Amino acid sequence: MKLTDLTLNTPYLSLDPIFYHEVIPTPLKNPTLISVNPSAAELLGVDPAQLETDELEALLNGTLLLEGSRPYAMCYAGHQFGYYVPRLGDGRAINLGSAEGWNLQLKGSGQTLYSRQGDGRAVLRSSIREYLMSEAMHALGIPTSRALALITSDEKVARERWERGAIVLRLSRSWIRFGSFEYFFHTHRHDQLEHLADFLLRESFPQFAGEEDGYLKMFREIVKRTAHTIAQWQSVGFNHGVMNTDNMSAIGLTIDYGPFAFMDTFESGYICNHTDTQGRYSYDNQPRIGYWNLERLAHALSPLVTETKLKTELEKYGEYFTARLMELLRAKLGLEGVDENDSDLFRSLFTVLENGRVDMTPFFRTLSRYEGDRKALLALTLAPNQLDEWCDRYDKRLELNTASTEVRQEKMLRTNPKYTLKNYILQQAIDASEGGDFTLVNDLLTIAQNPYDEHHDFEHFSLPTPHEFKNLRLSCSS
Ligand code: AMP
Ligand code: MG
Repeated sequence: MKLTDLTLNTPYLSLDPIFYHEVIPTPLKNPTLISVNPSAAELLGVDPAQLETDELEALLNGTLLLEGSRPYAMCYAGHQFGYYVPRLGDGRAINLGSAEGWNLQLKGSGQTLYSRQGDGRAVLRSSIREYLMSEAMHALGIPTSRALALITSDEKVARERWERGAIVLRLSRSWIRFGSFEYFFHTHRHDQLEHLADFLLRESFPQFAGEEDGYLKMFREIVKRTAHTIAQWQSVGFNHGVMNTDNMSAIGLTIDYGPFAFMDTFESGYICNHTDTQGRYSYDNQPRIGYWNLERLAHALSPLVTETKLKTELEKYGEYFTARLMELLRAKLGLEGVDENDSDLFRSLFTVLENGRVDMTPFFRTLSRYEGDRKALLALTLAPNQLDEWCDRYDKRLELNTASTEVRQEKMLRTNPKYTLKNYILQQAIDASEGGDFTLVNDLLTIAQNPYDEHHDFEHFSLPTPHEFKNLRLSCSS
């Protein structure tokens, strides 16, 4: 099918008008396509070979409306840095409708009813980051929104300086957030709250729709998915940076990519967002914040389900999180079975990595080829003795494996990526794009989508991050 043959539907608009605001995107001047992602086109049933640049530019710029499309912004609230903000909503995102269960959304396409002081725009730098990172996360098996394409324009947007505007077309199975429920709860619109819960059941949890305790089962699933997604973030060293409840997906996806980072050197208290002075959203706080956010959601659902039942479900969060994290770390280390000392082995590894200022990505990749000779591993740390001692324990634990070393290595090489899109790498693509060269964005898309493979021209991006670029902090402005 061609892109222009796609028909969209808009089930969200069957809800009460208080849920949304119908709004036509404001086009950018002279749009230019930077990149299109063929695998996202396939999700929509669109043939990548038939994608046309001018059609994509027009779709992203809001000048081509597909059949059935009725653009709208969604209303929500949320806790930002611990404080309740009664009305947020899509201030710069406009939904076009859905196809094949994917909701198409433009980000950066102009003001909406919910823009408050904002201009409704997104800058090129943050749009490139979101576009590439959502695909990178997907390739790592981490639940996330996806991205179809990215355009930029000559039009300048005012931030700390004038920057190029851009629009990403994002896809998600759902754009409902914890903050969507909070909005209806805190405005005492309990009927609408129920309609939202029913909508989410139909959209994303049809297995529970119409069941007794359907809302409770849905909440259980949200708790589980949130715990699992955050366990995955922790396992790859991903710091989201802005885990406000309006940025928490009700189906447990990673959404709203802002000042995120893949850590370079492992640092448990790492804070990627430099406006987060207290470190509320630091790497090691993420699991706790996931729980805190779920508490807010449970509270918002309390008119629909007895709060003690919600609380019982919520209390399983820690178990879900730990079980998934242990499973992921065993896979990263190539360990078979379960040993009672595993959590201690993992904890001590992360201490050793932190003490030795070790870069996570090359470390786990090098470990994937480990067969007793520690030279390559010890070269990655400033505290070789500690790592050497840890390797003694690791060797012992590996004795419990029954499969051959080759089998373990092969599995680990499919588990530990050779490439993660660290901030300094993304920055190179951003710098080139601001000068009009989009080649690196497209090369990085290929790398993001195939992180376990060798990419010979980009060997340098798999090495430890150069010292001057390590663990940079980013501003929230985007
Ligand atoms: P974020 O932290 O990027 O998820 O944004 C928080 C809230 O601010 C959301 O409601 C956004 O839609 C809104 N917002 C952020 N940037 C802008 C902008 N430039 N124009 C309008 N609204 C914005
Ligand atoms: Mg957001």
